Amino acid sequence: MTQVHYLNPRYQQGSPTLNYAAKVSALRAEGRDILEMVLGELQPPFFQVPAHIKDAMCKAIETNRTRYTDVQGEKEVLEVIRAKLERDYKISYSPTEVMLSNGVKQVIDNLFAVALEAGDEVLIPAPCWVYKPNITKYGGVCKFIPCSKDNNYKVTAKQLEEAITTQTKWLIINSPNNPTGSLYTREDFVQIAEVLRRNPHVRILLDEVYEQLVFDGHEFCSLLTVAPDLKDRVVVANGISKVYAGTGLRGGFAAGSEETIFAMTNHQSITTSSICAPVQWAMKAAYGSDDDFLEAWRAELQDRRDAFVPGINQQVGGLHAISPMSTFYVRIECGDWKNLITQDGETTFETDLDVADYLAEKAGVAMMFGAPFNYQEPMLRASLNLPKSELEIACERIAAARNELVTR
Ligand code: PLP
Repeated sequence: MTQVHYLNPRYQQGSPTLNYAAKVSALRAEGRDILEMVLGELQPPFFQVPAHIKDAMCKAIETNRTRYTDVQGEKEVLEVIRAKLERDYKISYSPTEVMLSNGVKQVIDNLFAVALEAGDEVLIPAPCWVYKPNITKYGGVCKFIPCSKDNNYKVTAKQLEEAITTQTKWLIINSPNNPTGSLYTREDFVQIAEVLRRNPHVRILLDEVYEQLVFDGHEFCSLLTVAPDLKDRVVVANGISKVYAGTGLRGGFAAGSEETIFAMTNHQSITTSSICAPVQWAMKAAYGSDDDFLEAWRAELQDRRDAFVPGINQQVGGLHAISPMSTFYVRIECGDWKNLITQDGETTFETDLDVADYLAEKAGVAMMFGAPFNYQEPMLRASLNLPKSELEIACERIAAARNELVTR
């Protein structure tokens, strides 16, 4: 697209994951057979929004719940979310401390719109999801804390303490983590909370959108469960995109101090008003019912993971897949491919984008490249959004494409 002088150059680029997914879709539209593992969404037929949630949304439409609602959300829906928070954190949120947004993305955008001033620092343990554009557009400065692979890419209390300055306004904690698949433990949070108590000027965005997608008997733990005393400094961001396979419904919620939620609601009133009314009733059904279906979902994801990770490691030279504890992302180290080249000598693998492009085009397997997630080393992120039989085919295809390469 040519740049036009009256448009803000900031918006000449969209989300890196959506951009790369669009590139893959364009290849598919040309008729290429490509297995898509780019987007972070659980897909039908196995994963679909549970029937009781769909029914609640259909019923809302049938009964004409199709008008504007309070920007914050329908009171009955907010009640159910407050009950969920009380159940999870043993913390009571008042009705003025919760609100609904169009997905977690809008929670994040609302927050940084109202809570950042030019030059404010936001600490982000990296690798991390793509928070940066929602921070820089409001004048905030991202300060990435490079986290060590040896600590499963989690920030340590010591690193956090060293990174905090007088300019630090926010810290983002995302656990379970996209893209690394790592999970903070109770012990991690006990230590992190100590640092936060010593630095009362730092507020925390807690992105828990993958909260229940944990494997091997690991338990999801929130910073707020460990440190309920931090409640007024924390904004929780969560929603139905991942845990209820509802990425397209755009149902998110925020919980935070009354002043913050008030300002976020005002921002949302200017941009989108309330979220889609029927989706609010879907959220009520999601958070107001048992999540019995999740056991089967976790087992399915674990099964996929346990087919894909060894499949890559045993069949493909130079790629090293790491089994995630949570989410549905597998990270694959691909730095060793720097030593490889195509037989015609035309393609080399200097970056993870080179590897991702080659595998999409030659192997017919599309995965996200790691650079937009601030990985220090070349990495791919494979989303386990295909059934096991197709993941096995993906491994075979990747192995065949690897075998076409020669050492440089
Ligand atoms: N936060 C993280 C860590 C994510 O991975 C995603 C989506 O991939 C989002 C937020 C955005 O979620 P939503 O689709 O609800 O806007």
